[in-house]
Order: sequence, then structure tokens, then C-alpha cells
Amino acid sequence: MSTTYRICLLPGDGIGPEITAEAVKVLNAIGEREGVTFEFAEALLGGIAIDETGTALPESTLEAAHAADAVLLAAIGGPRWDTTDPEKPRPEQGLLGIRKALGLYANLRPVKLFPALVGASTLKPEALEGVDMLIVRELTGGLYFGESGREYDVAGAGRDGAAGQRAYDTMEYREFEVERIARTAFEAARVRRGRVHSVDKANVLESSRMWREVVHALHAEEFADVELLDQLVDNTAMQLIRWPAQFDVVVTENMFGDILSDEASMLTGSLGMLASASLGDGTALYEPSHGSAPDIAGQGIANPLAMLLSVEMMLRYSFELHSAADELAAAIEGVLDEGWRTRDIADESTLPQKTVGTAAMGDLVVERLGG
Ligand code: NAD
Repeated sequence: MSTTYRICLLPGDGIGPEITAEAVKVLNAIGEREGVTFEFAEALLGGIAIDETGTALPESTLEAAHAADAVLLAAIGGPRWDTTDPEKPRPEQGLLGIRKALGLYANLRPVKLFPALVGASTLKPEALEGVDMLIVRELTGGLYFGESGREYDVAGAGRDGAAGQRAYDTMEYREFEVERIARTAFEAARVRRGRVHSVDKANVLESSRMWREVVHALHAEEFADVELLDQLVDNTAMQLIRWPAQFDVVVTENMFGDILSDEASMLTGSLGMLASASLGDGTALYEPSHGSAPDIAGQGIANPLAMLLSVEMMLRYSFELHSAADELAAAIEGVLDEGWRTRDIADESTLPQKTVGTAAMGDLVVERLGG
């Protein structure tokens, strides 16, 4: 009997259902090739879940996610559900809620330059040579989850010495939180190029000084074969533009990682090409880095490749189907090398007959997989 992998699909909103269809098509082709079965259970998340159930994360979705071996999320949100009314449900609550419920503490974002797309970046091609990094962002601690608050009528806090407001957010970490994210980074480096940059602000922040100590202790105990370098976050922001190829794995605190991963993503110049994985101790979640692109939803022109690259990460991290993941990566690269483009990654050198829509791009990848 063939192995069965259960995948919870969360197509969400906007272009979500269109790119999900391509992921299913590609997974079915891979399943046939590898002699394994992918079983899909679709559930509601985000705006569509609000429309149908009144909440962005219905209980049935949580159950489907917990029952699956991996979760594949497309994108959620859109202007239809935008609201400033705190009483109304918002699509993002679904995303934050599911991350929390699955205990996803590590967010992995690969940033790899596809040679065929070098023209899409705003940086010079020579600055981009060899860019292939993995950003490992801590996702459930740090500045976004520490104590925060706001006080009113605080003496001297207002203009000209009058009473005014005071607000605060706290960057807080516990040793075990730093150790487990560092472990994720070291393990990833071992199967990549063996180098970790640990990024902090240890010259100013106490939480960073503890971060550094914990990372170094774990390194000495278990990962001495991996090269470990410390870097201050302001320097990293600069180095990402100056010489991005120096980075293999970058591990950092929640907010630093939020900012640096967005900065790094722009090295490739194309949102439609960036995948991500969020890992915890149980079921992991995979999703493209882009949003629901409401401006192009329903037109059949969305780029499905970030979604397919998220599938590649799922094959690797959740199912350990490494050769299938390699084949999918090669198929995507092959399609790009042959000049095929969706509209968002096309440039003046793209032949009009090679500008294709969502489904055609999925078909091209399937063809390269021998489907
Ligand atoms: P976006 O990523 O949806 O779109 C930004 C621009 O990139 C748009 O012009 C869009 O057409 C284009 N784009 C994005 N993905 C593309 C793809 N696969 N193929 C072709 N073009 C693509 O960001 P936004 O416009 O700021 O947000 C739109 C909605 O998505 C908002 O409601 C936002 O809250 C939500 N959002 C969701 C997620 C998520 O689900 N994880 C992430 C970011 C934004």
C-alpha cells in the first residue's frame, strides 16, 4: 500500500483558490510519480470563513488542521473585509489564530535568486550573484508578544510638560524559546552551506545579550561543525543590500525577522516567487509570502510559483520527500529558464507567446515533472 499524506488546504480569499488548484494539480502529478497518495481536506479561513460562519477561524478548520500531516494555506483578506470596528471579525485573525493553535514558533523564508529572473530585482545583477539564503524568524515571542500597554493622563508625558499618554511594548524571551529557534537554524544550516548568522542588538538590548549567550552555548554543545557569526541587526539591514551572498541561514528575533525578511524578499524583486514555512512541534503550515492580490483575483493571471515553492518546502520539511522536492524545484527553474512567465514576472525580453496565465504555468510545471 502506498503512503498517504493528509494535507489540509486553506484556499482563503482573492487569488487563493486559483493558486491552490495549481498546487493540487502538481501534488497529484508528484504523487503518481513517487507512488504516494496526497489526500486533501479543504477548510475555511479568512474572509470566506467570515462570510460563511461569522468567524475567521471556525472550529472545524482547527480540527481539519490538527488532523492533517501538513497545512497548505494560499492567502486571506481583501478590501471587502477591511474594518476598523474592533467588534467585527477580520481575516487576519484567522491567520494569527491558526499559527498560535498549531504552536508555530519558527518561520522559514528562503530567498533564492532564479538566474532567469535577475532582471526583476532593483539591485545590479553583480550584487545578486549567488543569493541563496534562508531567514529563520522566531514567531511567537519577542517584541510582538511581550507585555504591552497604554496609559492616559501620565504627568509630564504630553506636550509642554502637560499630562499625556505613555505606551510601551516589551521585548521578552525565555531561554527555551531562543534555544529551539537556534536549533532549527543550525539544523537547516547543516543541510545547506553550514553557516548561521545570528542577528541581534546585543550592544543595547538585554534580551539580545541573553539570545547571544544561549545561541553560543547550544552551538558549542551540539553544532560546533556549523559556522556561527553574530551580527547586529542594523548591520544586517545594510549587508543584505551590500553583499547578500554572504548569508546562508539568518536566525533572529520576531520583529527583526519581520523587517529583514521583507527587505531580503525584495532582492528577488518578485513577490510571486517567495515561499514560506512555519514550523512548530506538530503540524506545520506552508504558505506563499504574498497576499490575496484582490486586484487580479478571478482573472486567471496570478503567479502560482510561490505557492508551488511552498509545496516544495512541505515535501521537504513535513514529508521528507527530498528527491520529489528537488524535482519540483528543478521543474520550476526549467520552466523559467525556457522563458515562460506570468505577467508579474514578465519583462521587455519576455516573448508575448510565453506570457501565460495561472493554469498554464501549473501545466508547464506538471509537464516538466513528466506528468
Ligand atoms: P498582495 O501581496 O496581495 O499584493 C501586492 C501586489 O502584488 C498586488 O499588485 C498583487 O496583484 C501582486 N501580487 C501578489 N501576489 C501575486 C501573485 N501570486 N501573482 C501576481 N501578482 C501578485 O498585498 P496587498 O495588496 O498589500 O494585500 C492584499 C490583501 O492580502 C490584504 O487584505 C492583506 O491584508 C492580505 N495579505 C494577506 C497575507 C496572507 O494571507 N498571508 C499576506 C499579505 C497580505
